[in-house]
Amino acid sequence: MSSTVYSFRGGTHVTEYKNTRKKKIEKLPDPGFVEIPMAQHIGVQCRPVVKVGDHVYKGQLIGDAQGLTCLVHASVSGEVSEIKVRHNAQAMPVETILIKSDGLGELSPDIHPHTKKLSETTPDEIIERVRLAGISGMGGAMFPTHAKIRSSMGKVNRLIVNCAECEPFITANHRLMLERPEEIVNGTKILLRALGLSRADLAVEDNKADAVNRLLSVVGDSDYIKVRVMETKYPQGDERQLVYALTGREVPSGKLPADVGCVVFNAETCAVIYRAFAFGIPLVERCVTVDGDCVREPKNLLVPLGTTYRTLIDYCGGLVKEPYKIINGGPMMGAARWELDTPVTKGTAAVLVFSKEFAGMRDTGACIRCGRCVQNCPMHLMPLYLAQYAMSKRYDDAEKMGVMNCVECGTCSYNCPGNVQIVQYIRVAKGALRTKKQQAKQ
Ligand code: SF4
Ligand code: SF4
Repeated sequence: MSSTVYSFRGGTHVTEYKNTRKKKIEKLPDPGFVEIPMAQHIGVQCRPVVKVGDHVYKGQLIGDAQGLTCLVHASVSGEVSEIKVRHNAQAMPVETILIKSDGLGELSPDIHPHTKKLSETTPDEIIERVRLAGISGMGGAMFPTHAKIRSSMGKVNRLIVNCAECEPFITANHRLMLERPEEIVNGTKILLRALGLSRADLAVEDNKADAVNRLLSVVGDSDYIKVRVMETKYPQGDERQLVYALTGREVPSGKLPADVGCVVFNAETCAVIYRAFAFGIPLVERCVTVDGDCVREPKNLLVPLGTTYRTLIDYCGGLVKEPYKIINGGPMMGAARWELDTPVTKGTAAVLVFSKEFAGMRDTGACIRCGRCVQNCPMHLMPLYLAQYAMSKRYDDAEKMGVMNCVECGTCSYNCPGNVQIVQYIRVAKGALRTKKQQAKQ
């Protein structure tokens, strides 16, 4: 490992609140029931392929679709008790399958490990297994992983594994690196094989020295997988920042990392790819950090997909304060939810519950032209003007100033002394511009 510490321009140092960094991942006991949405990914929503009353095994296919999509599998064995429409974080109606668990966790007889040697496995075979395992990005973006591999083939020469975990509170990836580092490294090898590459970087922030050492103990002096130490700075885990920090390549406006020869996969996504090969298990469970000042005993849990936040919180000793804000993901980029009976999905890295005092909700204020948001924006935008244009509904002007390049990292809002809810205004502008484009297409 070199002594270089990699970083990007802009960004900010946030209070870490990594309260659960020493909490080992605990396997959640059988939750009794799960509610599994047919859309936990970007792309086409799946349709249920089971009906009420059917018996299902853990790992059995229960949702299917064509096109850019991610298959959905049962996360427990039991009986389908209901199929209903629920609203997801984006207020979109999504068909959801409720399964009453029989507590047996019986695996589907269709589950088989991959038995061919990796060196004899073709890229197409790897992509097909990843597709059949229903794997999507687990860092929050939820893009179907098989499609990401396919679209990167022949275009990229650098694979980056995102082990930064720069959001406050979340430590699930940190624990995974400490407890199952070989799964991350083996998943990385599978991705290298699929992409025909001979070089991967595992990018870890320097506040996780123990994880760096664990990964190094697995990687050894490998010539093709390197552990890279990144400066602890938010949003280091944004893939554009990682690409710049490690390669010096800037992803142009409106382009993807693959357009500059790089592809980035999340650490847990790599581990899940490995498990789909070694054990044949599709993506049916994930690590979740449960934290926030309302939670009695914050923990890291291994959770069947579809388990409700309420079940997780009950397992953590329940709530000690009136919840004011429930967040799916980190406090900077996560999505606020309005009820605890929300299921964990493929993109749920954390469930955070905050009281009003902790959330520090204040009325939105006024810009005092301090320029801090401009100085810290990792995308080199002018957040104050974007917010002003959004406030006055001048969306076309906001677009000219690059609002669509905003990665919604929240750095500007975090640092704003005027308490201007900049990123909220930016989201409104982006939403309005997307709607306008869709209407124009129609
Ligand atoms: S940080 Fe806030 S107060 Fe300062 S310029 Fe930006 S919007 Fe205005
Ligand atoms: S304008 Fe967007 S990219 Fe820039 S700091 Fe704010 S949220 Fe992050």
